[in-house]
Amino acid sequence: MSNQSANITNKPKTIAVIGAGPIGCYTAYLLAKQGHNVHLFEEHKEIGKPLQCTGLLTADFDKYFPYLDKSQFLINNFTAVNVKTKNQSITIPQNEYLVCRTKFDQYFGQLAKEAGTKIHLNHSFLRKENNNLIIKDKTTSQEIKIQPDITIAADGPLSKTAKAHHIFHHQRANYYGVQAIVKGQFNKDQFIVYFGKDFCRDFFVWVVPESKTSARVGLCSKHNSKNQFDKFMKRHPEWQITEIQAGVIPIYFHGQILQKNNCFVVGDAAGQVKATTLGGLIPGLRAAEHLTTSIKENQTNRYYQKTRKLRIELLLHKKIRKIMDSFNDKDWNTLLKLTNQPRIQKSLRKYSRDNPIPLIISILLKEPRFLLFTKHLIKQ
Ligand SMILES: Cc1cc2nc3c(=O)[nH]c(=O)nc-3n(C[C@H](O)[C@H](O)[C@H](O)COP(=O)(O)OP(=O)(O)OC[C@H]3O[C@@H](n4cnc5c(N)ncnc54)[C@H](O)[C@@H]3O)c2cc1C
Repeated sequence: MSNQSANITNKPKTIAVIGAGPIGCYTAYLLAKQGHNVHLFEEHKEIGKPLQCTGLLTADFDKYFPYLDKSQFLINNFTAVNVKTKNQSITIPQNEYLVCRTKFDQYFGQLAKEAGTKIHLNHSFLRKENNNLIIKDKTTSQEIKIQPDITIAADGPLSKTAKAHHIFHHQRANYYGVQAIVKGQFNKDQFIVYFGKDFCRDFFVWVVPESKTSARVGLCSKHNSKNQFDKFMKRHPEWQITEIQAGVIPIYFHGQILQKNNCFVVGDAAGQVKATTLGGLIPGLRAAEHLTTSIKENQTNRYYQKTRKLRIELLLHKKIRKIMDSFNDKDWNTLLKLTNQPRIQKSLRKYSRDNPIPLIISILLKEPRFLLFTKHLIKQ
């Protein structure tokens, strides 16, 4: 492989994508479609495993990716979310999808493969030596040295690739998620979220039905996620746990750069996750499109600029998260009371939370008392 600066030629390039999660696979697919020589390295022996995700997607998935065939990975459709606090419960109409994450990742892996990506499973990025990437073939334990024109770090929230290229911002922080698959009785048309410190210190608990008899139940937190999770599960002795999963979720950090020389970060590796819900799938896929378009236009230095709208949205989610972090039970009850008004529900039905700016403007115009919550931004 030759070593060329990312900006100087529009000839097909040799591109190494590290990490075959959904974002790495989609990035590889889009680049292979452009005619580049794409190598995708994944440290596990199978794409989509182990599973560490709930798999909720807002209906905005259709808006951003109308050409992707979601029937390949869809397992449930929701029409509402039931929001619970210590003393209240409201139901908000909301269209949302639940996907099988293994099938989701494998769908993107298959697209990448069909477009010509060479997929190297059981291959782990170890380190960088000068301009070389050192990759370990875990089957033979051999170390391979490669020198791609472009390296893409799509290796998740702890991205070794981003760290080796000195792109990973040291101030980044993570949540730790714990989730169980449980058997029980559920309303399959709604998922439930529990807010308030009684349930989870610094996030929320989710109960997301896969069917009438099975659900994904989890929470995430910066501290002692498993203890908090066990405490929540004690409230539901009727549920039977069949599987436990855990994973790291990055907290969006606005100071994160996205490129250094010929290395780019995308997806969780770049922290492209909504801080309100910890949804990283749609933001990561959108960022993959921005990155690959800038490579196509031979203007790789425009990747950062192209993600501007996405970065502003993610920053807004982070500010909302900051407000929610300081809520007490009274604040949660006030929020639910305000939200339960028909005019607010209408806005929530109309605007997606993936695009929070129109939603916020609409609800503030209809109910200025929401502004009272911004006091929490000043307090911290
Ligand atoms: C409990 C939990 C629940 C979640 N729920 C949702 C949800 O409902 N909706 C949503 O949108 N998001 C959710 N997320 C977030 C979502 O899972 C991530 O945003 C998404 O997986 C990001 O995809 P990615 O491809 O960037 O990274 P990943 O999915 O982490 O993929 C990275 C890949 O890189 C590989 N890799 C890592 N290091 C190396 C290496 N050194 N060499 C080679 N390969 C390597 C990994 O094996 C992995 O396959 C959840 C996360 C967790 C933990």
